[in-house]
Amino acid sequence: MATEYDLIAIGSGTAAKVVAFKCRAAGWRVAIVDHRPYGGTCALRGCDPKKVLVGAAEALDGIRRLEGKGVVGRDAAVSWRSLMAFKRGFTDPRPPVVEAGLREAGIETLHGRAAFRGHDSLDVNGETLKARHVLIGTGATPMKLGVPGEEHVITSDQFLELEELPRRIVMVGGGFIAFEFAHIAARAGSQVTVLEALPRFLGHFDPDLVTLLADRSRTLGIDLRTETRVEGVEPDRDQGFVVKTSAGTSRGTVAADLVVHAAGRVPDLEGLNLQAGAVNVARGRLELNDYLQSVSNPAVYAAGDAAGVGPALTPVAAHDAHVAASNLLDGNRRTPD
Ligand SMILES: Cc1cc2nc3c(=O)[nH]c(=O)nc-3n(C[C@H](O)[C@H](O)[C@H](O)COP(=O)(O)OP(=O)(O)OC[C@H]3O[C@@H](n4cnc5c(N)ncnc54)[C@H](O)[C@@H]3O)c2cc1C
Repeated sequence: MATEYDLIAIGSGTAAKVVAFKCRAAGWRVAIVDHRPYGGTCALRGCDPKKVLVGAAEALDGIRRLEGKGVVGRDAAVSWRSLMAFKRGFTDPRPPVVEAGLREAGIETLHGRAAFRGHDSLDVNGETLKARHVLIGTGATPMKLGVPGEEHVITSDQFLELEELPRRIVMVGGGFIAFEFAHIAARAGSQVTVLEALPRFLGHFDPDLVTLLADRSRTLGIDLRTETRVEGVEPDRDQGFVVKTSAGTSRGTVAADLVVHAAGRVPDLEGLNLQAGAVNVARGRLELNDYLQSVSNPAVYAAGDAAGVGPALTPVAAHDAHVAASNLLDGNRRTPD
């Protein structure tokens, strides 16, 4: 017989954890499941590890800017290997701590990939689990670039695990992750090119500040190009890559040792077998009502990057998760503002 829960939360990032804790605190029988180490993107592969690296870049920037103003010498440099070891000091301990916290609250923690089996049941590692409600908190995944050779392009997860930082790096996309990675890599000595298809970088940010940032980036030697599309990536003879570009009618190439995907992320819904759960999707997004509830299966809610309602940021994921949890517990009364 299938194990029965009041709620199964898929994912162990900010969104799924908030909903799991709130429902458990209300006395519900709750399970949470992740196929990767517990903690989600922000803690393990996003905000936190990135901020450790940004911290080193900022320290170097501070030294250079204060040279001659009380600081003597500008010889400090990034040791990538030791910086990555320092980063792992923050990320490696997280999964057991996160899992222990969930267990202490009385939440059952499961490891494996969850997929719908029916409208009120999930398969995890070949076992069927029944649930009165399911929370989809599966986060986001890099969008398909749809260009030849995209298999050579590494993800932000892989960038944050690099043992060595190559000499020439191309960022595909010009959003906040591209800029943060570009500044980290440039400070660590790499030659970085940022390729953005749209007329301006950082589309959601204040244009005046973006101009200041772009100027500062160029003085660091970062090659910034807007209205430049990546058309393909090919390995070259020297174990590097040739990134093929187009800008209007002109074609170009950029030589790189590493090409990084920073072109945006989409809800991670692959492999959830949503059809079996009667959970509708339109154009790659869950069809949700104002209460973060599936329009086709009222037992199912979503929050965070998987819901894709607001910007893909941790505070948004947390906020939406509180809304989704309130609606699960009290009936649908709250909408994300
Ligand atoms: C490089 C990078 C830097 C970022 N920096 C910032 C920042 O500085 N500030 C900020 O606010 N935001 C930042 N973000 C965004 C932030 O990390 C996300 O918005 C936030 O983590 C989303 O949380 P979530 O709970 O929705 O999903 P996630 O934290 O991504 O959790 C989803 C979890 O679901 C699991 N999962 C997926 N499918 C299944 C399945 N079928 N079965 C079981 N488990 C599954 C995944 O393994 C994952 O652990 C950054 C993101 C990246 C990639």
